[in-house]
Amino acid sequence: MISKYSNQKNEIKENEIKEAAEEIKNGKLVLFPTETVYGIGANALNADAVKSIFVAKGRAQDNPLIVHVSSIEMLKKIVKEIGDIEKKLIETFWPGPLTIIFKRNEILPNVVTANLDTVAVRMPNNIIAKKLIEYSELPIAAPSANISGRPSGTKVEDIIEELDGKVSYILDGGFVDIGLESTVVKIEGENINILRPGKITKEQLEQISKQVKIDKNVLGKVEKNEVVASPGMKYKHYAPKTECMMVYSENQNKMINKINEIVKQQKAENKKVLILCRNQNFDKYISNLKWNIGKTLEDMAKNIFTLLRKADKENIDLIIIEGVENKGIGLAITNRLIRSCAYNYIVL
Ligand code: AMP
Ligand code: MG
Repeated sequence: MISKYSNQKNEIKENEIKEAAEEIKNGKLVLFPTETVYGIGANALNADAVKSIFVAKGRAQDNPLIVHVSSIEMLKKIVKEIGDIEKKLIETFWPGPLTIIFKRNEILPNVVTANLDTVAVRMPNNIIAKKLIEYSELPIAAPSANISGRPSGTKVEDIIEELDGKVSYILDGGFVDIGLESTVVKIEGENINILRPGKITKEQLEQISKQVKIDKNVLGKVEKNEVVASPGMKYKHYAPKTECMMVYSENQNKMINKINEIVKQQKAENKKVLILCRNQNFDKYISNLKWNIGKTLEDMAKNIFTLLRKADKENIDLIIIEGVENKGIGLAITNRLIRSCAYNYIVL
């Protein structure tokens, strides 16, 4: 099967979004943009369609999916109740990059939630995503569009090789806005627990409740057989094929010196090392194999996955990435980087 491809970059083509919505209604898969990363979507109410997402991605069956909605009416059909804190979160952050865990309704097939009694839901803010859900008149289950374990897709060019032919329709909306997956939260009493950090930060969530906790697995390593709040935390994630290492120190000079030292050692062993660094540090590295990841943390969030994928095409032995402070969106960047590096990191 060849995927039907629609390039929406320059204008929104209503007809094509409608055609893609028909595919969703017919139980087929559609690749579509959201403001966070690209998604691979199916009718969340159709068990067979949802199963085909797991097959296309090679995703573990016990890793539940996020269901995307375009209205509160749609949300109400799939969840049991909407608590007060959840209401405030919705009013403040939806449509947007925040996923909320709710008690699920029976209407959802078990495969979507991996048999949990809860479901993760988000209302995306990308115009193509919104229209796709609206036109299909169905909640759309959609994980990130990538083979499981690989970096998420932030532009179609990066993921077309691994997903073309596995989906019926590709809606290409160009480079996404954010570049990291949504923040995932679960409410317990007055507590907002961050299961996965993202663009919506701890500091922003503190405006809704004073008690915001970061799950220990956000920065920690999941031990074998450990029961986790969010099943996705157990798996290898966001990883390029090339070996990767993160180096961080609050003291930027210390960080730069350490990276230069590692580069020297590696070069002595004839290894090809790529440095991914912020623009402001670029000239401080001795190596000539170095790429800018952007000036701000927002730039970095947007660029990181596409650069890791690009590095995989260059026959590099080691990628060294500058770490960042765990504040604001920096927490989400650190969470992704330590997994991309398979926990191979140095903090000085
Ligand atoms: P993605 O593959 O980027 O769509 O990731 C979705 C994330 O949401 C994974 O880490 C899942 O484990 C998590 N998730 C989905 N549903 C639930 C749920 N009901 N409870 C807790 N975490 C969930
Ligand atoms: Mg993913």
